[in-house]
Amino acid sequence: MYIDTHAHLDFPELRPHLSSVLANAHHAGVEKIITIGIDDVTNENALQIAADHDEVYAAVGWHPHDSEKADHNLEALIRRQADHPKVVAIGEIGLDYFRNRSPQEKQREIFTRMLGIASELTLPVVIHCREAFSDTFDILRNFTSDKLTGVFHCFSGGITELKQVLNLGFFVSFTGNVTYKNSALTSVVAAAPIERILLETDCPFLTPQPHRGKRNEPAYIPLIADQIARTKGLSLSDIARITTANSYRLFGVGEPPAKSIVYPIRNSLYIALTSRCTNTCRFCPRATNPVVKGYNLGMDDEAEPTSEQVIQAIGDPLKYEEVVFCGFGEPTIRLDVLLQVARWLKSKGVQKVRINTNGHGNLIHRRNIVPELSGLIDSISISLNEPTSERYQKIMQSEFGESSFQGVIDFTRACVGVIPEVVITAVSYPAVDAEAIKNIAERVGVKFRLRAYNDLG
Ligand code: SF4
Ligand SMILES: [Zn+2]
Ligand SMILES: [Zn+2]
Repeated sequence: MYIDTHAHLDFPELRPHLSSVLANAHHAGVEKIITIGIDDVTNENALQIAADHDEVYAAVGWHPHDSEKADHNLEALIRRQADHPKVVAIGEIGLDYFRNRSPQEKQREIFTRMLGIASELTLPVVIHCREAFSDTFDILRNFTSDKLTGVFHCFSGGITELKQVLNLGFFVSFTGNVTYKNSALTSVVAAAPIERILLETDCPFLTPQPHRGKRNEPAYIPLIADQIARTKGLSLSDIARITTANSYRLFGVGEPPAKSIVYPIRNSLYIALTSRCTNTCRFCPRATNPVVKGYNLGMDDEAEPTSEQVIQAIGDPLKYEEVVFCGFGEPTIRLDVLLQVARWLKSKGVQKVRINTNGHGNLIHRRNIVPELSGLIDSISISLNEPTSERYQKIMQSEFGESSFQGVIDFTRACVGVIPEVVITAVSYPAVDAEAIKNIAERVGVKFRLRAYNDLG
């Protein structure tokens, strides 16, 4: 399922054909659409279309082009329109210094007032920003304390602007222009974490290839998804699932991601055995939002699966290039289940079985568990993240305290010569000292990999 998070269904190119436009969308797997208002009249149109069609939701806003036309009744008008049960956002709003159809000062005033309404109503915002990033960021920073969130729609910035958007906690959405030849956006799509990307058509504008030049419509969302999938080396179903989960997170549109104990990504199959962990890493969303690549890995202790349940959920393991014990929790806590499933995988002929671990297996079981993994596990990725015991404890907050850092190093040494591939990993958060961790990996005689957070596989 896909969600088109930004369409103008009431525009004259689409509205007379609405029933066929919605049927086309449905056939293409685009099951929810957010139609966007840009002024009083189009807001009313959006509300009407959303009221008439289950699959359509609305955002009400005031476009920067029309800033000059807004009057002192703006707040009262938007509050009344936003009261509709199918309104999921305030937008589009923002700054457009490319066309400058309204004076910039007036644009800033209206944008600020609209952000005030969104904060008051705790609704996310849909931002239109063209050649006005600096002022947009300045204005938004004044609202961050209110937990204001939203999306930069039809994102047109470069990597520098992308970083600022991410720091603000906002999403970016991409339109059909990512499919255009030599698009400068390709590097931006590559750099944007998939957990922060939404899909939109902005129809009737910006029609993706190969339909460029014709009218755009929500049914073309899969063409945009396909381009993003190729840029990011993910499958089309990964993009559909993840961007749909993102839309739910921001707008509450669609269904929350289903809980999963096995979860395919690309050609790999991942297994979550537990949500328990012996670390409480400061960067880990295990307790707050345990969603990875569109899968909800949250699990109560009573819901931890048995080996039979895992095996049943896997189905045919030979469909995958690799099977990985991972999840938002430490898999070696459930060593018995892990070994039973690994034995079954090997009996089925799976070539590559991996564990992603925090390296506490021996501390947890108070013995050397590595010989038990021999012949069953082909690769092990051990996350170290910090180069000294003190820093490790500060960030990872291990329940083993001071002994945990050395415990991870000792575990890694124990794996050498027993498990064919041993890798020390570090998450690339801003303060990470990758060089120092790499040196440790070299001293222990294992590989090193720096990975983006959430970048499984
Ligand atoms: S070791 Fe992994 S699962 Fe455990 S808290 Fe850290 S990041 Fe989260
Ligand atoms: Zn726009
Ligand atoms: Zn738009």
